Amino acid sequence: MYSIQNIVQRYYKILIYAIFFVLLHRNSEYYRTKTMQNDYFPSEKVSAIRDFIARATHVVILTHMSPDGDAMGSALAMYHYLVESGRTKDKRLTAHVVVPNAFPNFLAWMPGADSVIIYDEQADRADALLAEADLVICTDFNDPKRIGRVGERMMEKTCPKILIDHHLHPVDFADVTLSYPASPSASELVYRLIISLSGESGLSGENGLAVATAIYTGMMTDTGNFSFNSCHPEMYEILADLVRLGVNKDAVYNAVFNAYSADRMRLMGYCLYRKMRIFPEHHAALIYLSRKELYRFRFQSGDAEGIVNLPLQINDVYYSCFMREDKIEPHERERAGKAKSKIKISFRSQGDRPVNIFAAEHFHGGGHANAAGGEFFGTVNEAVQEFLDHYPEYFRQD
Ligand code: 5GP
Ligand code: MN
Repeated sequence: MYSIQNIVQRYYKILIYAIFFVLLHRNSEYYRTKTMQNDYFPSEKVSAIRDFIARATHVVILTHMSPDGDAMGSALAMYHYLVESGRTKDKRLTAHVVVPNAFPNFLAWMPGADSVIIYDEQADRADALLAEADLVICTDFNDPKRIGRVGERMMEKTCPKILIDHHLHPVDFADVTLSYPASPSASELVYRLIISLSGESGLSGENGLAVATAIYTGMMTDTGNFSFNSCHPEMYEILADLVRLGVNKDAVYNAVFNAYSADRMRLMGYCLYRKMRIFPEHHAALIYLSRKELYRFRFQSGDAEGIVNLPLQINDVYYSCFMREDKIEPHERERAGKAKSKIKISFRSQGDRPVNIFAAEHFHGGGHANAAGGEFFGTVNEAVQEFLDHYPEYFRQD
């Protein structure tokens, strides 16, 4: 009566549960190892980076002008990782993040943001740190010109340089370049690099949560909270890892996206109500602001962030352009010629509607297909005229 057949009949449900449990467990292990042990980068490059870091004692991390969440995220993640992994028995590595100009207030909560050195405000200190640096790591920009004067200082240095970036057409200035324009954020590349260098322990030490939070912030902001460039399944495996490591994604969202000042909110309302022009045949929108208007709303650095995205929320608007009048920096005087102001231009688009070519051909700029920018030396009205004269050549009507 205790034949195998009997046992199977009695206990088959338990058996099925057991098999199911084993399979489920194996499956989650599979995804975990798949994300954590990635070989995304060529091993020679990872080895070279490992050697540079092992030999370095003073590292300077640089990221782009008007730092956004991905710039700050990729740079600060690298910073926390290096400080922790460089804390060995026989050496203590120092690392500093230097940004060309101020970062917006909604990123000030990021762990380590208070120790970031702003070149515009502390050029002497930044120059001194660069002078003693024996390794420079650049994140989230593709050309030394995109970081202004600090880029000129950086290019004078002969120490090893590493570039980790996701913009198209990187300039070949670094000793090791990790350039992946298909990656939605530079922060995601930093995650992959840290895993390649140190495995999971790169994110689980004393600074692990700071590293993971910085990476999460960059991944979130460069995809508009996962609403564009966000159809890569592997990205969600990385995000799951970051949440498992303790990142409070809801708190990060709140800190970044629900952090407007009342002035910023009113500026947004003004832009939409009074300043937005729509070009229905080309599914386009344009918003532009003079310095006087910015002054009226007590404009702070970062306040213009995201305004360019707003018109895309309108049904049938697929192209958006935002222009704002800005100061000409001393190092731009020559390029500006007789112009009294610089117009900073942002483009955004949806789907197969590139805007980077328009930015490059008419506004000395470039960028990604759906997120580009440029500049124009002259008045806002002249920049608007340049836009009006040429947008039909670049914007589709269907
Ligand atoms: P944003 O509109 O956020 O300032 O810039 C969006 C993207 O456009 C940036 O990530 C960058 O790739 C590109 N971009 C913005 N401004 C410039 C510029 O002046 N020159 C170039 N080459 N690219 C820019
Ligand atoms: Mn980026």
